[in-house]
Amino acid sequence: MKLKNEQEQKVKAGRYGKNFGGQYVPETLMTELEKVNKVFNELKDDAAFKAELHELLNNYANRPSLLYYAKNMTEDLGGAKIYLKREDLNHTGAHKINNVIGQVLLAKHLGKKRLICETGAGQHGVATATIATLMGMECEVFMGEEDTKRQRLNVYRMNLLGAKVKAVTTGSRVLKDAVNAALQDWASRSEDTFYVMGSAVGPAPFPEMVKHFQSVISKESKKQLQEQAGRLPDMVVACVGGGSNAIGSFAAYIQDPTVKLVGVEAAGKGVQTDKTAATIERGTVGIFHGMKSMFMQNEDGQINPVYSISAGLDYPGVGPEHAALAECNRAQYVGITDDEAVAAFDYIAKEEGIVAAIESCHAVAYVQKIAPTMAKDQIIICTLSGRGDKDVASIAKYKGVQIDE
Ligand SMILES: *Cc1c(COP(=O)(O)O)cnc(C)c1O
Repeated sequence: MKLKNEQEQKVKAGRYGKNFGGQYVPETLMTELEKVNKVFNELKDDAAFKAELHELLNNYANRPSLLYYAKNMTEDLGGAKIYLKREDLNHTGAHKINNVIGQVLLAKHLGKKRLICETGAGQHGVATATIATLMGMECEVFMGEEDTKRQRLNVYRMNLLGAKVKAVTTGSRVLKDAVNAALQDWASRSEDTFYVMGSAVGPAPFPEMVKHFQSVISKESKKQLQEQAGRLPDMVVACVGGGSNAIGSFAAYIQDPTVKLVGVEAAGKGVQTDKTAATIERGTVGIFHGMKSMFMQNEDGQINPVYSISAGLDYPGVGPEHAALAECNRAQYVGITDDEAVAAFDYIAKEEGIVAAIESCHAVAYVQKIAPTMAKDQIIICTLSGRGDKDVASIAKYKGVQIDE
């Protein structure tokens, strides 16, 4: 979607750091985003809204999620104590549902009847289809045609849940094209439609809303670690695609200077190769999907294809708050390769009996490297963003083992 340069001056709200974030969208969407921003700010601290949100989070999505002391990993790695924040135990198997519940409640309060969203691997589409059905709303999921072929099972799952999946045939027919198509659909029929954004990206107020709804992760972990160990962690580690599970895992600790924050990007075949998705390390500042942030792009601002073994980390940009946290060095961003993530997938299964999402295993792989360099009285919290059942077949294939699905 083309942005209008003159809009850059108009944007005041939703800025992170020096200049990331903003609202680079056509006029028609500016008005709608203003409505969304207003309802979000009116309701986010409203007692009745919070009660409604927590009722669904606790009694439908299975919150609070466990903060689990990983004793075997801790002993094996021989350094810092490792605690796993178990978002993999949520209904639909990942952190995405936290955000979807929050945004769909806002949509309901705005009187919307139809939900749209983008999806890459299908995880966010499944979460949105699930909550749409629960709330009796219509749901249409935009998915790149390439992704509909690679993720047939999730397409079927979304249909089963009553959603329509729209195969997007523009551009490279992948996630970035699905976001464009969803933004266009929203601009053309915002009267009855709400766009449920799947990560901490897009025009303001999406990055802030998504952070707000995902911050339940760190609010819980802070309280849980206080109960279990009586103190703050020394480090919080989470994987970064668009950055929603990471910003939610960091949120409650950003003001605690002793807590190191580490975001783990997908390095793919290597950060210095052209088969990578390590946006903060390799990207440059640009404007895309309605926001100013870091992107994998060429000199003309054309978005480059990105690559990772994990479909959930395969996004050519990153949320604007992560770009700002990197810029001011409040958080550190590191790359983990496919090979390292696959090794971590095996490792955590064998040590802890947990089959974790390949996305989450990027964070686990970093913990494997850093924990042994830390003291035994130090503490790491690592977010397991999702469960790995969806990845078993493709990991087997990656290792040259053919299994029937
Ligand atoms: C979608 C997804 C991610 C990446 O998205 P973020 O917005 O960066 O959190 C990571 N892990 C899992 C399991 C996912 O489904």
